[in-house]
Amino acid sequence: MKITIIGGGIAGLTTALALKKIGFDCEVYERAKQLNEVGAGIWMQPNALKVLDWLELGALVRENGTTLNRVDITNDKLISFKKTSNEVVQDERRNKIVAIHRATLQRILLDALPKNCVRLGSEFKSLEISENKVKVFVGDREILTDLLIGADGINSKVRDSIFSRTSKRFSGQTCWRGIADIHLPDEFQKTGIESWGKKIRFGFSQISENKVYWFAVMKTSQNGTDDSTNITSKLKNSYKDFHPLVLNIINQTQADKIIRSEISDLKRLDKWHKDRVVLVGDAAHATTPNMGQGAGQGIEDAYYLANFLAKNHRFEKTLDSFESARREKVDYVVNNSWRFGKMAHSDLGQLIMKAIMKLTPDKVMKQQMSKLYAIQEQF
Ligand SMILES: Cc1cc2nc3c(=O)[nH]c(=O)nc-3n(C[C@H](O)[C@H](O)[C@H](O)COP(=O)(O)OP(=O)(O)OC[C@H]3O[C@@H](n4cnc5c(N)ncnc54)[C@H](O)[C@@H]3O)c2cc1C
Repeated sequence: MKITIIGGGIAGLTTALALKKIGFDCEVYERAKQLNEVGAGIWMQPNALKVLDWLELGALVRENGTTLNRVDITNDKLISFKKTSNEVVQDERRNKIVAIHRATLQRILLDALPKNCVRLGSEFKSLEISENKVKVFVGDREILTDLLIGADGINSKVRDSIFSRTSKRFSGQTCWRGIADIHLPDEFQKTGIESWGKKIRFGFSQISENKVYWFAVMKTSQNGTDDSTNITSKLKNSYKDFHPLVLNIINQTQADKIIRSEISDLKRLDKWHKDRVVLVGDAAHATTPNMGQGAGQGIEDAYYLANFLAKNHRFEKTLDSFESARREKVDYVVNNSWRFGKMAHSDLGQLIMKAIMKLTPDKVMKQQMSKLYAIQEQF
């Protein structure tokens, strides 16, 4: 069986690895000429780590990142609203969150694949579906494949080729991300922080010995741009009331490496597959990043899709099973992440969230997180 994946991001590479693990060959076609360093960090939560362990890459990811014992939501002076137990962000296997540089994660995934599996500089153009094959037009090539997997991100062209155009939802917020060259004080070494000021947020964590990943989120209109000559002073001005550590983190970041991203998600698709074409990752269900689960959900897709394919070669049934196994959690993440983002940027919303945090016992929080961290073991 020939399987073709479009997109060499986290979802595409993990899907290729999961298929390899199950015993299927596949090829990944990636538009970029190089898998460029993405200058930010990422938090991998226990559900993603379970899949990475299954792929035998978990140890490498932990070794190259920083394990966080806890994630604290704090005020702008970095004082926690509630000190939750470390158990809350831990699964039944004692997996905790790992913070890692995105480029490092991407490199680990890429290096675990056979050399000729990922074809760079190969842009997907269009497809034609026939009775039992898909003809795929990539660059100036035509490829005949049994199954096409669209892992080409939130603006997926594969998705647009099989469904009528879907729309992105802009959240009204923009996120700036960067890597600062500093070593955090001991008290923050093993903690992910998200601090809330007046309708703005700033989060950070150590990702390696002298590197700190940070994100700053503010309400904005769409299509804004930055000027690297003054972005540092603009951000420092926005966060001037925050703890001095926050200002130091911004200061220790190379201005031209700061990434600006508008925060959007994807309106819920009725289906993620049609005939022999299926979507995974952001192409199917891009979420706002407020739960730190977007890539984690793409990684879970890879695991479920490969396992269902191994069990059953009848595509329609397999792809239906894949989708129904994944829908509930994905919807939960997308909807809650959207709500969380809205509340974190409103005065009333922040008050409500703080009250919920204070009143919810750790045991209940842990139960909620356990659901998020669970993955199906038997297929
Ligand atoms: C501010 C922010 C913070 C985040 N933090 C976290 C976090 O802490 N934890 C977490 O789990 N998630 C996080 N996420 C979400 C995460 O980044 C995404 O969910 C994840 O990167 C999506 O991976 P993907 O492979 O589905 O898509 P993408 O990363 O978008 O990859 C798609 C790939 O397809 C390629 N491509 C596109 N079009 C074509 C084409 N026509 N032909 C060939 N190739 C093509 C692209 O070049 C790209 O390489 C965050 C997101 C944001 C915006």
